[in-house]
Amino acid sequence: MQKFAQTCDAVAATTKKLQKTALVAEYLKSRSLHEAAVSAIFLSGKPFPAWEETTLQVGGALLWRIVAELAEKDDVELSAAYRRHGDLGAVAGELLPQKPGQGLNILEVSEKFREIAAARGATKKAALVRDLLAGATPLEAKYIIKIVTGDLRIGLKESLVEEAIAKAYGATLAEVQRANMLLGDIGETLRLAAQRKLAEAKMRLFHPLGFMLASPIESAEEGLSYFAEAAVEDKYDGIRAQAHVSAGKVKIFSRTRDEITESFPELPNALASLPYDAILDGEIVAWEYPRAAADTRQLVDEPQSEEGEEKATSLGRARPFSVLQQRLGRKKVSEKMLHDNPVAFLAFDVLYANGDLLIEQPLRERAQILDELLAAERQTIHHRVTDTQRKSQSKFEFEQEQVMTASVIRAPVFRAASADDLEELFTSAQARGNEGLMIKDLDSLYLPGKRGKSWLKMKRELATLDVVVTAVEYGHGRRIGVLSDYTFAVWDGDKLVNIGKAYSGLTDAEIAEMTHWFLEHTIEDQGFRRIVEPKIVLEVAFNNMMRSDRHDSGFALRFPRIVRLRPDKSREEADTIESVQEIFKKQERKSNQ
Ligand code: AMP
Repeated sequence: MQKFAQTCDAVAATTKKLQKTALVAEYLKSRSLHEAAVSAIFLSGKPFPAWEETTLQVGGALLWRIVAELAEKDDVELSAAYRRHGDLGAVAGELLPQKPGQGLNILEVSEKFREIAAARGATKKAALVRDLLAGATPLEAKYIIKIVTGDLRIGLKESLVEEAIAKAYGATLAEVQRANMLLGDIGETLRLAAQRKLAEAKMRLFHPLGFMLASPIESAEEGLSYFAEAAVEDKYDGIRAQAHVSAGKVKIFSRTRDEITESFPELPNALASLPYDAILDGEIVAWEYPRAAADTRQLVDEPQSEEGEEKATSLGRARPFSVLQQRLGRKKVSEKMLHDNPVAFLAFDVLYANGDLLIEQPLRERAQILDELLAAERQTIHHRVTDTQRKSQSKFEFEQEQVMTASVIRAPVFRAASADDLEELFTSAQARGNEGLMIKDLDSLYLPGKRGKSWLKMKRELATLDVVVTAVEYGHGRRIGVLSDYTFAVWDGDKLVNIGKAYSGLTDAEIAEMTHWFLEHTIEDQGFRRIVEPKIVLEVAFNNMMRSDRHDSGFALRFPRIVRLRPDKSREEADTIESVQEIFKKQERKSNQ
């Protein structure tokens, strides 16, 4: 691990990409295959390969406490060092004592990470982390902590590790990238590169691929400015999901690549009816099913025709995210919950079907394959429903069974040729209870994990709120040394009540300036968190609002984003709980329309 840490220090010391990759390549070649594979994962700033669901679940506060204890420093000294470095790993590197007998092999560190991930309970985890850091040299501890917090901060992205692997083992960058994309495992990719077997990398079912992401657009005109032919879909407000299906076995993964199959026991049933192995990309949405059995798989391609409109609504409609929220994170889902809060899988892409990886085919072709796949699936469902209908004893049982089987829906696709078409589609998407639109380039390939201009998202804010910052925290990743996470509040009479927390939207310069201000105006220093004088006013936007006991206002915001600082407003001018209630009511009215 010492050699690894030295290499990281050397990589951090140069800004030249070529030099960084040369240093990494040289280091990788000097290691055994095992060590090099683990190193590649660590060099991407992760404790485990990307595809794995394992997480360490070790928070910043715990690390902070352990570093303080091992370094024998109090909070004031540690905070001072943290301000100097802006990184807990670097703080450990400076403050931890060098002792004889320290030093770890990188494979040992990897094993310890697994033990920490598997440990249940904070005390057990803390003891293992403490042991690991106590056995490491200060330089090793520096990088162990950086890996635990998920960012090495040495200017080395996974793409540079891919370059280094190509350089070290004489492969082309494209070969390495392709294998890594398919495997989601940079360590395994390195092994194949070292054995000159990159071409053998195969997509593995039940290992989630990265999700293709969308870029926001500001106007309908912009939505049609990047490509020739656009497919337009509603933007559903649910959770992104990737379903892997093979021979009756089904697993569903979330955007963080965690398995979420258990929370949606009705979906495997429906997905297992696909005629062949497949990976579908889609959104799980709380769904109101139409009373009559509907044809759920049309491709609707005239913009705004009444027929198109009718087809889109005959599928049923989305219910608000707050309904879906009650289904999330549950290991056991009651019959009542299944019945009262049914969901649908709105499928909008297919990444693999019947033995063929499809991500390198244009959306135009993938869409067609998806249509065919789901049309075939509908036949099976139809038979099953009629069968159930015949057998079912009670009405309730039949309704239940219908929901259990008819829940994979092809997300309707529209076409738009002008900005006006888009505006109209946008309005009707919102009238259907959806967030807005997704505009996709029909000629684009599926790029896992990439946010580009082939997928665009068009949505409008529900409203914005002017809020007062009451507490701040140090950020993560690039923002680790600055106070960039803000908890904010609105007025309830003459009291400020918290309503949310946000960490994006300001420029680096603004954050630096705010950090300075907050440090000077701290009421209580809690280490990672500071209660600050409630004087700074922000404008925040959000996707919607829900009732929640997370904050003392009784409300929480979904996807809050800082729009801008409002130095022009005094704190007295911030919004009140009454305006929050007003927005909430408006939102409920809209979703009931
Ligand atoms: P955002 O979360 O605002 O960045 O928007 C991107 C997310 O919208 C995706 O990750 C999906 O979860 C979601 N989404 C909803 N409908 C669609 C759709 N038709 N196509 C792609 N993504 C969608």
